[in-house]
Amino acid sequence: MANAMMGNLGGQPILILPEGTLRQMGKDAQRNNIAAAKGVADAVKTTLGPKGMDKMLVDSIGDIVITNDGVTILEEMEIEHPVAKMMVEVAKTQNEEVGDGTTTSVVLAGELLKKAEELLEQDIHPTVITRGFKIGKDEALKILEEIARPISLGDTDTLKMIALTSMSGKSVERASPHLADVVVSAVKEVARMEGSKIVIDTDDIKREKKHGGSAEDTELIKGIVVDKEVVHPSMPKKIDDAKIALLDVALEVKETETDAEIRITSPEQMQAFLETEQKMLKDMVEKVVASGANVLMCQKGIDDVAQHYLAKKGILATRRVKKSDMELLAKATGGKIISNLDDLQSNDLGFAKLVEEKKIGGEAMTFIREAKNPKAVTILVRGSTEHVVDEIDRSVEDAVGAVSSALEIGKIVAGAGSPEEEVAMRLRKIAEKYSGREQLAIKAFAEALEVIPRTLAENGGLDPIDTLVEMRVAHDQGKITWGINVFSGKVDDALADGVVEPLKVKTQAIKSAAEAAEMILRIDDVISANKLSRGGGMPPGGMPGGEDMGE
Ligand code: ADP
Ligand code: MG
Repeated sequence: MANAMMGNLGGQPILILPEGTLRQMGKDAQRNNIAAAKGVADAVKTTLGPKGMDKMLVDSIGDIVITNDGVTILEEMEIEHPVAKMMVEVAKTQNEEVGDGTTTSVVLAGELLKKAEELLEQDIHPTVITRGFKIGKDEALKILEEIARPISLGDTDTLKMIALTSMSGKSVERASPHLADVVVSAVKEVARMEGSKIVIDTDDIKREKKHGGSAEDTELIKGIVVDKEVVHPSMPKKIDDAKIALLDVALEVKETETDAEIRITSPEQMQAFLETEQKMLKDMVEKVVASGANVLMCQKGIDDVAQHYLAKKGILATRRVKKSDMELLAKATGGKIISNLDDLQSNDLGFAKLVEEKKIGGEAMTFIREAKNPKAVTILVRGSTEHVVDEIDRSVEDAVGAVSSALEIGKIVAGAGSPEEEVAMRLRKIAEKYSGREQLAIKAFAEALEVIPRTLAENGGLDPIDTLVEMRVAHDQGKITWGINVFSGKVDDALADGVVEPLKVKTQAIKSAAEAAEMILRIDDVISANKLSRGGGMPPGGMPGGEDMGE
C-alpha cells in the first residue's frame, strides 16, 4: 500500500510521505472504519438493558473491573484504532452530558454505520447518506420532543422510577428501591431554582465509597463525609452545634526555613529551643480558639503538640483533608477556607448541627451533618466487596445523572425501546416525502433506531423478530409508550411498568451517535504514521481480541 504514497514524475516515483506511512483510501478505508466502529458497538451490546450481562475487564497488572456500564467498559478496554476511539468519545460525551445512556449511544452509532455500509454497497454516495442521516436526526429530535411528558420536583414517584430504570440491570438490582430513594433525596437537596428553571450541579453530590456493608446500608448524609479520623485520641468524637474552622495551612513549626544554622551546645539551649517551638504551636492553637471554633478541618498537617493543645481545648480536629473536600465543606457549612491563621475570624467559621466520628467498615470517618446550607450532600455508598461497591457507585452515579437531567430539562419519555420504536415509525412516514436515495437513507436511520428494542429483546432472551413485529403493531395503533417488558416477555405499556427515562438520554444519544456516524462516513482516506501501524497494516478491526468484528 506504500505505493499509494508516491507521485509520479516521468516514470520516476516520488515519495511525498515518509517511508513506512500507511494509507487506506476509498472503500477500503470506509469498510475498515465501519468494521472498527461496529466492533466497539458489538462489544457493549450484550450489556444493554435490565437483562444485559456484565463484563469482567482485567488490565495488564491484573486489576479487575466487573461492570455493565458502557463508558467504563470502553475506557478500560484501552482501544487503539482511531475510529474505535471516536466511538469511545461518543460514550464519554453521553456520560458527561447526561450521565446515563452510554451503551445506547454507542450501540446506535454502530447500527447507523452498519446501515450506512449497506447503502454504500448499493453505490449510494456517502454525502447522500450523511444528508439523509442529518434529516433523520433532526426529525427524530422533533418527534422525541413531541412525545415527551413534563416532570417537576414534586413528582417524587416518577423521579424514583427514573432512578430505578437507570439502575436496573446493574448488579445492585435488589437494593435498588432503597438506592432510588437515596438518589432522589440527594438530587432534591441540591436542586435550586433559577427563575423558573431547575438547576442541579451534580458535583454538589459527593459519593464516598466504603465496602464491608450491604447496598441497603447506603446512606444520604446532609453534609459531607470526610474519609479522615479525629486526629488525637483525647479529642471529643462528637460536637453538637459545630463551629468549624477550615484551614489550608499546617499547624506545624516549619523546619528552619532560613539558612541560619542553630547550634545547640547545652541542654539549657535545647530546652529553650523546644519551649519556643511549643509556644509557637500553642499560639497557633490559641488563634483557632479565639475564633470561637470547636471543630478544625485542616487541609495540611497538625503537629503532635498542637494536637495536644487542641484536645485540651476540647476541639475536634482532622488533618490532611482533601482539597476537593475542603471546597465542599466550605460550600456546605458556609465557612471560608483560611490560608493565614492571623486572618481567622469568627465570621469565617462554618456551621453544622453535628460533627462526629463514626466507624464505617472498620475505618473511622468524620461526618459533618445538617450543615448550615445543605447544598452539598454525600452519598455514602456501601456494598460487600470493593468490586461490588465500585459497581454500585457507578449505578448511583448514572441514577443521579438521569434524575438530574430529567429535572433540568423537565421532560421524560417512557423507556423499554418505546421511544425508539415510535420515532422509527414516524420517521418512516416522513421519509416518504423525500425522493429516491435520500429516502432510503432516512429509512435506514429509522431502522437503525430499532436496534434498541431489538437488542433489549435479544438480551432478554426473547425472539427479536416477533417482538419487533408486536412493537410495530402496537405503535401503529397509537400506543406510544408501549415497549418491551423483559420480565414478562410481553410488549406492554412501559409507563405503567415504571420504565421511565429522561428525554435528554434519548436526544443526546441520537445526537452524538448521528454526528459520530456522519464524521466516520466522511472519511475516505486514512494516512497513518508508521508508529501507529504496529508492524505492517492497519489492524482489521483495531481492537484487542477483535473477534467481535463484523456480524
Ligand atoms: P445505557 O448505558 O444505555 O443506559 P442500560 O444497560 O442502562 O444502558 O440500558 C438502558 C435501556 O434499558 C434503555 O433503553 C431502557 O429503557 C431499558 N430498560 C431499563 N429498564 C427496563 C425495564 N425494566 N424493562 C425494559 N427495558 C428497560
Ligand atoms: Mg443506563
